[in-house]
Amino acid sequence: MINNKYFHFIQLMRNERRPIKELRMIQNKKLKRLVCHAYKHVPFYRNQFQKINLHPNDIQTVEDLYKIPIIDKDDLTGNAPSFFLDNRIKKTEHLKSISTSGTSGHILNFFVDLQYNQLRKAQFLRPYITNGIGLMNRLLWFRGRPEKEQRLHQKLGFLKDYQFYSGLDPSLQIDLMQQKKPKVMRGYGSTFQLMASKILEERIPVHSPRIIFTDSEMLSTYSRRRIESVFQTKIIDIYGTFETENIAYECRKHNGYHIAVDCVIMEFVKNGNPVKLGEEGEIVCTVLDNLAFPFLRYNLHDLGTPLDRPCTCGRTFPLMKSISGRMHQCLKKQDGSKISTTSIVSRIWYLGQYIHEFQIIQKALDLFLILIVPTKFYSKKIEKEINLFLRKDFPYATVQIRLTNHIQREKSGKLLDFKTYLKE
Ligand SMILES: [Zn+2]
Repeated sequence: MINNKYFHFIQLMRNERRPIKELRMIQNKKLKRLVCHAYKHVPFYRNQFQKINLHPNDIQTVEDLYKIPIIDKDDLTGNAPSFFLDNRIKKTEHLKSISTSGTSGHILNFFVDLQYNQLRKAQFLRPYITNGIGLMNRLLWFRGRPEKEQRLHQKLGFLKDYQFYSGLDPSLQIDLMQQKKPKVMRGYGSTFQLMASKILEERIPVHSPRIIFTDSEMLSTYSRRRIESVFQTKIIDIYGTFETENIAYECRKHNGYHIAVDCVIMEFVKNGNPVKLGEEGEIVCTVLDNLAFPFLRYNLHDLGTPLDRPCTCGRTFPLMKSISGRMHQCLKKQDGSKISTTSIVSRIWYLGQYIHEFQIIQKALDLFLILIVPTKFYSKKIEKEINLFLRKDFPYATVQIRLTNHIQREKSGKLLDFKTYLKE
């Protein structure tokens, strides 16, 4: 097979509209290949299968997947990387090494071989291209680590982008947008929200791009509403992780996120069991093409809801509702129950004109610190409101509010709405 990202890309584009029956056949074929390979060549999975007396022949279809135990990042970081690596690979110099810290604070190093890396690149590109980035469009991209060097296709004038640091002062970002007048913008929701807030505060007339793509952070309804109303355009949000690449994305019909079932098997589970359609569960992924370092039933600890409705855009990929929270970013109550990010943030969206951005830190079960970057309309009255919305779920808690000029980003450049110092 030709191993080139553009060749893979054409295949992936076609897959978006294949009958679901064909897509299930692709999944089952890839799954069988992956399970046999992992059993034969990857020490961790061989041990795991032997411990529970499971043989690769026991896994014939996606329906058999439940027989394999669910793992997560802690299982991987608790063992040497070689335990998860294809044991025929003696030197990792020929592999691409990827590190991710995520929100849990644990750093995971994993590998992809060069062949799969080409497919990953195509998988990364698909949501952007099939949602309307033209080959000749100029893209303004605010990211954690902007690249200085242009790639070959960019030197040739295709998919050109202007990349800038996502943590720049929002006034500077607005200037850049006004100068470049991009048709498409890409970045974290928090970056665009901060720009939108500044634009409203200063009443700046702005250039309106055709599409805004957001990724990497959980996009709250509040952020989405504010960004869309200020920039007068719709957001296309994309969901992916380093371990999986882009695996779910919106389309222009906005009926939910299409799951890339040709690249991943996505399950939604609660306490280890599958949830019903329409119910929220943790997202567990089996990455179908990474043979060098397989991820089989890997719990991402993000919360999503599988949907049972087709989309009117013509894509046959099934839908899920937006990511409703990260398990690691949920606030914890005294009785041990948790509240997802969305439910809290949706209650304060109307305070947007007073607050540029915020971060809620749970220091103890009954102690919260809220960092706020205020707009010029901020007043002490707002603090009362914030106290009230937290007290609804945490009536016993002490809430400290601290005003600041800037909220520290993660190493990746992302802003976390929530942080917690509590152990799981
Ligand atoms: Zn659609």
